[in-house]
Amino acid sequence: MRDIEKALRKYWGYEAFLPLQEQAMECTVGGRDSIVVLPTGGGKSLCFQVPAVTLPGLAVVVSPLISLMKDQVDDLDECGVPAARIDSSLSFKEQGAVFARLRKRTLKLLYLSPERLVSTRFIEFLRETEISFIAVDEAHCISMWGHDFRPEYRELGVLKETFPGVSIHAYTATATQEVRRDIARYLGLENPVVLVGSFDRPNLVYKAERRAKMLNQVCTVLDRHKGESGIIYCIRRADVDGMRAQLTDRGYSVLAYHAGMEDEDRKKNQDAFMEEKVETIVATIAFGMGIDKPNVRYVIHAAMPKSLEHYQQQSGRAGRDGLEAECCLFYSAGDYGTWRHILTDQDPEAANIALAMLNRMYEYCTGVVCRHGAILNYFGQDLHKTNCAACDVCLGELVCMEDSLETAQKILSCVLRLQERFGGDYTASVLIGSREQRVLSGGHDALSTYGILSSYTKRVVRDWVEQLVAQGCIQKTGEYDVLNVTEKGWRVLKGKDTPRLLKPAEKRARKRGRASKAAKDSWEGVDEGLFEALRELRLQIAHKKRVPAYVVFGDAALRDMARRKPVTPEEFLAVKGVGEKKSQQYGPAFLAAIKGHGLANSAETYESRY
Ligand code: ADP
Ligand code: MG
Ligand code: ZN
Repeated sequence: MRDIEKALRKYWGYEAFLPLQEQAMECTVGGRDSIVVLPTGGGKSLCFQVPAVTLPGLAVVVSPLISLMKDQVDDLDECGVPAARIDSSLSFKEQGAVFARLRKRTLKLLYLSPERLVSTRFIEFLRETEISFIAVDEAHCISMWGHDFRPEYRELGVLKETFPGVSIHAYTATATQEVRRDIARYLGLENPVVLVGSFDRPNLVYKAERRAKMLNQVCTVLDRHKGESGIIYCIRRADVDGMRAQLTDRGYSVLAYHAGMEDEDRKKNQDAFMEEKVETIVATIAFGMGIDKPNVRYVIHAAMPKSLEHYQQQSGRAGRDGLEAECCLFYSAGDYGTWRHILTDQDPEAANIALAMLNRMYEYCTGVVCRHGAILNYFGQDLHKTNCAACDVCLGELVCMEDSLETAQKILSCVLRLQERFGGDYTASVLIGSREQRVLSGGHDALSTYGILSSYTKRVVRDWVEQLVAQGCIQKTGEYDVLNVTEKGWRVLKGKDTPRLLKPAEKRARKRGRASKAAKDSWEGVDEGLFEALRELRLQIAHKKRVPAYVVFGDAALRDMARRKPVTPEEFLAVKGVGEKKSQQYGPAFLAAIKGHGLANSAETYESRY
């Protein structure tokens, strides 16, 4: 039996390797740089811990969080493997004790934060030490394409030059190409072996639904899981508190968890959840790191996360035990606007990356292709089956347009009429018959397809375009994501293939019924996506001030804002229902939201960043 197998049995009591563990250990033992990408729970730690035991010398492990280091060192202690960590939580005396063990060469693994490892003093110390290899855990932290970028990780780039003969091994659960490329590049890996495990979680049922009556939607899921454990994620603390209160009112067993709570309360609630004294925890994403409750039966997202990495990570907390679990995501166009607003507030490079990731997330939500397939695709893998039988799309739960074919044909004809020279946003404008200046001056109001979908909102038509892209009927080309009709698109035009188009949310459909003249007039020229975004903002302000939403602004005022799209304080004051006091009080917030929304939907920023 080989050393690694012996060690696996002796120290950990395991009989066999998990997928790719053996190959990963061979790289480490053989001194060949490697990148190991395995999902959460895939057994990455053993990939470096086992070789650390069998090889002569000391393995240096980089980890981003004290709590993670502590857990692993405690675990290793339990297994009888001599390991230690040095971090800021240790007393001077404790650190001294670790150094003494290092000098005696009795340690097999040493856990460090990146900044400590690259400090001059430490490097000098390690030069005197026999190092078996360097392991970089949670290596996605080096990349802005990951979900947890840490600038300190970039400094690890010096290791390759400083310790030329020592192999470096990176471990992560984030599987995108971009992250892998960044890891290899910033660590200066030499021709690394890249091992990537399968990321599909076949026991998870994925669903994405446009948010309408959220509380009802959430309760429907809870009712399917009476007596079972689950997590509800909200973006903001205020949303967490609101949701907890409403669910409690309705008699559900829930507790809240977010970073704004006292440590003690948070700990108490987390324990109650772990101990199943409470069924559901309502939380911000502050909840989750280090939570490995195996029987979480559902994860609900009350709003869209900012990337598919985040979504995969958070929803992945369901069903760790391999049994069936449900992941429901409730999204709205307003979520997109909210995130966009938050994400643009950072340096341009980071903002661009964050927006590209946000766009992919929104595509996932509005998409009508298999969700398992879509997630795997994002991580560069294939599902290898056409029906996963574990998502709303494959289960046939999506409510599609009855006349999908006809509607798709209208959209595709419009793309052709525009001579395949425009992007999705512009095409949607033409289809709904927008009076926008750019459409009029382009003379496109004369096209036969102009206004052919005028009974729908632009947001809806825009989503349909994306749905056709996702189903391969339309292709985006060039720097500006100009739309082209594909071969499959032509088959649709000839009626030989029927794509799926999602039926717009109820609320919208009703609004759009516009039976009365009054309804028609009040919606005339209103950007409904913006209206939704402003409604969210109003709700937030109202929550904060503890007043009903209509006290902030009435619906009519919001519609007028979404129609006029004011830019200056003067223009804002001209909106119906905006007086001076309100203008002063709320003007800045609403103007910022209007501006943010405009950016989110302009052709340049929205489309070219896919
Ligand atoms: P990751 O870091 O990839 O999320 P961990 O290293 O924390 O995963 O391992 C997840 C769990 O799998 C741990 O409880 C670990 O003990 C267990 N595990 C690892 N390797 C094996 C194995 N070969 N056989 C059985 N269980 C294993
Ligand atoms: Mg790990
Ligand atoms: Zn599916």
